[in-house]
Amino acid sequence: CGIVGYVGPRQSQDILLAGLARLEYRGYDSAGIAVIDGDGALHSAKKAGKLARLREELDARPIGTGTTGIGHTRWATHGGPTDLNAHPHLADDDRLAVIHNGIIENFSELKAELVAEGHGFRSQTDTEVAAVLLGREYRAAGGDLVAAFRAVARRLEGAFTLLAMHEDHPGLVVGARRNSPLVIGLGEGENFLGSDVAAFVEHTRKALAIGQDQIVAITPDGVTVTDFDGNDVETSPFEVMWDA
Ligand code: GLU
Repeated sequence: CGIVGYVGPRQSQDILLAGLARLEYRGYDSAGIAVIDGDGALHSAKKAGKLARLREELDARPIGTGTTGIGHTRWATHGGPTDLNAHPHLADDDRLAVIHNGIIENFSELKAELVAEGHGFRSQTDTEVAAVLLGREYRAAGGDLVAAFRAVARRLEGAFTLLAMHEDHPGLVVGARRNSPLVIGLGEGENFLGSDVAAFVEHTRKALAIGQDQIVAITPDGVTVTDFDGNDVETSPFEVMWDA
């Protein structure tokens, strides 16, 4: 339902939680975040219920520091609103985290394919199928996260805004969108992704719209946008008008 991503020099946890709070008006039933720390280890926490429950969980069991992160509020469509079904969903031996807005219509067919190959699942969500598929494609692509993400986006049908990050690539968040919104926020030495400009408007008003069926890769110093086949595309910068 709500999505936020951050790469830069600052600790991401508070930025993610504040971004999710800004997206609360859309409604949600669960929330979660993942960060990659300075040693390149991925940590995550997720909880059914309001953001306050996630904050309590993070106070009780801190996940540590991390300047690369993704955060999600969920409105359940596939699988009930439980801790396990909350996002992020992990794959590739928990070294990779994925969050998703929307519905992956061909998830049961993809899940059957992955189960037949011996992949296990921990949730009832359509989203975990994208995470496990990304883990498989990541191996097939020899550790090229963006190429693997493109391969996944090409296989998915339905509506999705997807963000992913991997321990092997601290300082990189990748995003894809089809029939569901995703916007880039441009900072100085830091960049943001959001399902809505509200996710990052307190940090920057410089934004880039991402078109239908496009993939974005953000690092602290750069933004690359391509189509699902890897061709460069034009982006449209805009200034966020916001009075809040
Ligand atoms: N279909 C996904 C799920 O049920 C994502 C729902 C959403 O957009 O929050 O987990």
